[in-house]
Order: sequence, then C-alpha cells, then structure tokens
Amino acid sequence: MSILKLHDLYFKPFISKAEIHAIVKHLAQQVKHDLPKNEVPVFVGILNGCFLFAADFIREFNGDCEVSFVKLASYEGTSSTNNVKELVGINEDLTNRTVIILEDIIDTGNTLQEIYNIFRNQNVKQLKVVSLFFKPDVFRKELPIDYIGKSIEDKFIVGYGLDYNGLGRNYPEIYQLSTTPKMKNIVLFGPPGAGKGTQANFLKEMYQFVHISTGDVFRFNIKNSTELGLLAKKYMDEGDLVPDEVTINMLKVEVEKNTNANGFIFDGFPRTQSQAEALDAFLSDKGEQINGMIALEVPEDVLVTRLLERGKTSGRTDDTDESKIRNRFKEYNTKTAILKDYFDAQNKYYGINGVGSIEDITKRISEVFDTL
Ligand code: AMP
Repeated sequence: MSILKLHDLYFKPFISKAEIHAIVKHLAQQVKHDLPKNEVPVFVGILNGCFLFAADFIREFNGDCEVSFVKLASYEGTSSTNNVKELVGINEDLTNRTVIILEDIIDTGNTLQEIYNIFRNQNVKQLKVVSLFFKPDVFRKELPIDYIGKSIEDKFIVGYGLDYNGLGRNYPEIYQLSTTPKMKNIVLFGPPGAGKGTQANFLKEMYQFVHISTGDVFRFNIKNSTELGLLAKKYMDEGDLVPDEVTINMLKVEVEKNTNANGFIFDGFPRTQSQAEALDAFLSDKGEQINGMIALEVPEDVLVTRLLERGKTSGRTDDTDESKIRNRFKEYNTKTAILKDYFDAQNKYYGINGVGSIEDITKRISEVFDTL
C-alpha cells in the first residue's frame, strides 16, 4: 500500500483490508450474540459513508434481518461542521422493532445526536448503535454507543466508504491524512548489466539525490568482513539473491542514514515482490512514496557480453563465470521481472531503451525523471 493523493491532500495507509474485515466480522458476531434468539432486527445504515461497512456487516450477520438506509451528513472538507443536514430515508414502520444503526465513524457525535432525536419519536422496541470507528478525543456527547469497532486518534481518514470531498470512498483500506511528500524517489530497474550503477552515478550528481545500491552495500560489507558481508557472500558468489529479510533491513538502515535527502535512487532494490511491498510500506509510513520505476530494457545477449567484459576489470567474482551470470538472469527472470507488473499496476513503470551510448541513455532517463 502506498500513499494516496486526493484533491490537494496526501493520505498514508492506516488500517489494512484484513484488519477491517476482522473488526467488521467481530462486530457482527457481537451484535448477533446479544440479540434475543428469534429477534429480526432492522439495520439502518447512515449514508453515504457506511455503504461498504453496512454491506460487509450484514454479510457477516448470521441471521434474518432487514436493511434500510438513511442519509444525513455533517462533513465539509476534512472537518466536522455543526450543521447536521436533513434526514432522508426511512419509510418503513419501525414501531416495536429492534433498530440497529450502522455508522462508519462517530467523532463529535453531532450526527449521532440527530439520530437519537429522530428515533426517539418512532416507538421502537430498542435502538442500538454500531460504529465502525470512534474518535474518543473529540466526542462531546453523553450518548450511548453500543458497539465500537475501533477507537482511533483524531486524524482525518478516508477509504472504505469514507471520503474527502467526494473522493476516496472506493479504497478497500483506510488511509490517514498525511503531510505532502518531501522527496522524489526513483527505482532504477533492469537486469544485471543493464547499466543501473553507471546511470545512477550520473543521476545522483544531476539531481543531488542519494544513491543506494544494495549490491554496493553488500560488496562494501564483504570487503570489510562484517557479519552481514559474510552472510551475503555465499549467496552473491553463486549469483543467488540474498534473503529478503536481510536485504530489507539493510535497505532501511541506509535510508534512515539520509533522512534529509531530496530523494533516493534505488538501484538493485527492490528485487522481489516482498521487497517491493516492504519498500512501499516503509516509505508510506513516512508519508513518502516511490514516484516511478525507470527500467533499462536491454536484450539478454547484449547483457552477457557486457558483464563478461566488465568482469575483466571489475574484480567482481560474479561477473567472470558465465554460469553464475546465467544464474543471475534466472533469479532476475523468476523473482525480479514481475516487479514490472507491480509498478505498472500503480501506473509507475517507465521502460527506457537501455541500448546506446551512456550519454544518450542518461538523457532518456532524465527526460522521464523530470516528469515524475
Ligand atoms: P548488483 O550489484 O545489484 O548486481 O548485486 C549483486 C548481488 O548482490 C546480487 O546478485 C545479489 O546476490 C545481491 N543483491 C543485491 N541487491 C539485492 C537485493 N535487492 N535482494 C537480494 N540480493 C541482492
């Protein structure tokens, strides 16, 4: 999950789909458990925000029930206003029925107050309130809320039915208002020998970005015989990938060393789906994101020739043996190439022709870079 931009504001991931599902399921079970055995409740969803919650809740509610919706809103922009608007909806006779209100979120309690006022005159058997989210810090009423899914701090949230000026309702997760990203972060992508390192060296000068090459960090550790180096060496020598956990932790340490950077050029990372997910989560937690993946596209034959050539002078043991090189391609094709789809799905994939002179390729990259 990465950060979202809705209108002029940025939001970062806050509550996952899986957590929401668990909360909703638990609420539905609690409500069912507390009802008399043959009671058929009328669930009343408060639109618009509750539509996803209500839909999921009633699917988890194991028993007969009726469902209705009313509309009544109190939001403008990101702050709760005091003007609760009109109620539209309820046509059925609720006399002597158990009415259970489904709310997506209760903060000041103004809407809730309005609901209690309206239902007071309906001669219902009982009125209960279920709220998926609750902001205890801003709740100012003495009104009962029977079931609360999750209490959260007073920060504006969107997603899973909740909006910011109309947008954001369709996301299956909850996002929280965040600051505007300060960095521009690029993943420089491509198979071994595509020229990522060479290009990164030019780009970091041009843009004053921090360049992190995980391969270089591993080699530095090997040279200095650190524990990390010893561990990485046995994988690197074979042309295998170093395990994700080790690589991800190392990457985080490198990023944390440069918290004031204008941005990062990630070179050789991510190389697996779980690295990509970890990077997204790590950056979005800071309100930052990957702006784009720039991929150097080069045919494999050209690459093998380039790597063997580089091996004559680079001193890299993984560059001299063709079978190790082929293994690196195998790792690339089975574990890394799929990241094209991962970034493409976020509209962040930019393929560049990686064959040509170094200057021409730098130019091609920077043309994309400037648009990100
Ligand atoms: P490179 O310098 O990017 O070609 O990386 C050289 C070697 O370092 C790779 O073949 C891997 O063994 C290891 N390595 C570098 N980056 C990663 C990564 N993101 N995940 C796993 N292994 C890596």
